[in-house]
Amino acid sequence: MSKRQLAMVMDLNKCIGCQTCTSACKTQWTNRNGRDYMYWNNVETHPGNGYPRKWQESGGGFDAAGTLRPGRIPDLNQDYGAPFDMNYQEALNPWAKGKPGADGPPHLQPVQAPQHGPNWDEDQGAGEYPNSYYFYLPRLCNHCTNPACVAACPRKAIYKREEDGIVLIDQERCRGYQHCVAACPYKKIYFNPLYKRSEKCIFCFPRIEQGLPPACAQQCVGRIRFVGYLDDAEGPVHKLVEKWKVALPLHAEFGTQPNVYYVPPLSPFKYDAQGRLTDERRIPDAFLVNLFGPRVPEVLKTLESEREKKQRKQPSELMDLLIAYRHEEMFKLDLAYYQKKADGAPAKSATDKLRHVIPIVPAESLEERLENREVAAGNHSGETT
Ligand code: SF4
Ligand code: SF4
Repeated sequence: MSKRQLAMVMDLNKCIGCQTCTSACKTQWTNRNGRDYMYWNNVETHPGNGYPRKWQESGGGFDAAGTLRPGRIPDLNQDYGAPFDMNYQEALNPWAKGKPGADGPPHLQPVQAPQHGPNWDEDQGAGEYPNSYYFYLPRLCNHCTNPACVAACPRKAIYKREEDGIVLIDQERCRGYQHCVAACPYKKIYFNPLYKRSEKCIFCFPRIEQGLPPACAQQCVGRIRFVGYLDDAEGPVHKLVEKWKVALPLHAEFGTQPNVYYVPPLSPFKYDAQGRLTDERRIPDAFLVNLFGPRVPEVLKTLESEREKKQRKQPSELMDLLIAYRHEEMFKLDLAYYQKKADGAPAKSATDKLRHVIPIVPAESLEERLENREVAAGNHSGETT
């Protein structure tokens, strides 16, 4: 059990699916060196298959008795979608190989036809016009209180930081068995085929230790993300999770006790066959209950009634919180907490700590990248090395 627990709340009523968070994370942590296919933060459309494909049906987590459930390792091509290259040379530089043919230069397109990818079913959703619906679900590691990845690792390479509950992988100890990939029911651990180790979201701990929120939260265009400690009664996370009880964990039944919470999305009402508005929401409650648990209808009612108060120009602490006027009110971190030295020992530098969890992998050539794609595909068959 960690001393404190960092947590994040995301208000799904405000996510616009712009992927700025995804880009902020990718450019900071995973844009090269065997990490091409990794999306420590991804945003997927629901209803949809998500990323990796059908992660919700991949097993892992714990059963009711607290025993690890078997899980599967997603396939690189079919479930993640292997990174592909574009034909820039031919499409954008047609004169490099002589004059273009009668049909002109080829269209800009992937060299290898992709089978899947992040955001593969963007904006498809479900339902028939005029009652069709969808919403966006941003996802990252939940830095769970009872992490299945930790329980599954025979090398004890994965650990939960005592000071704030961030879950990290010790790269010195990891041997790339991928039991953690199978065990995480959210599929938020990725195998690095170049380095042959597992890697995951580090909740931007070097930023956290400077009193700053993770990059995904800082950059979020919709201002949907709140970051803080669950025990900080004055913080936004505590208020949304514990006081107002409108932020719910995703798939709590997986048994890992996630520390990323979601304010479920309201939706417009349906039209009947004659084109009249009904009082039935377009996103079926049952769909949201499946994701966020049985308290969803109660939470939606609270949101509606507080929203109406605000419309009547009455005060609403909840709506003011969710509108998120200022970053200072959305992110409540604690720089002084990290500056205290527990035992007087010299603190490790941020670079040393980072090396411990994100190794520096030499850059690869295009040929090596293509070769490693095959290696990754092999490793994702579930073999242990
Ligand atoms: Fe581990 Fe998965 Fe929980 Fe993250 S979401 S702590 S990877 S079990
Ligand atoms: Fe949603 Fe914010 Fe990410 Fe945009 S940056 S997709 S609004 S979570």
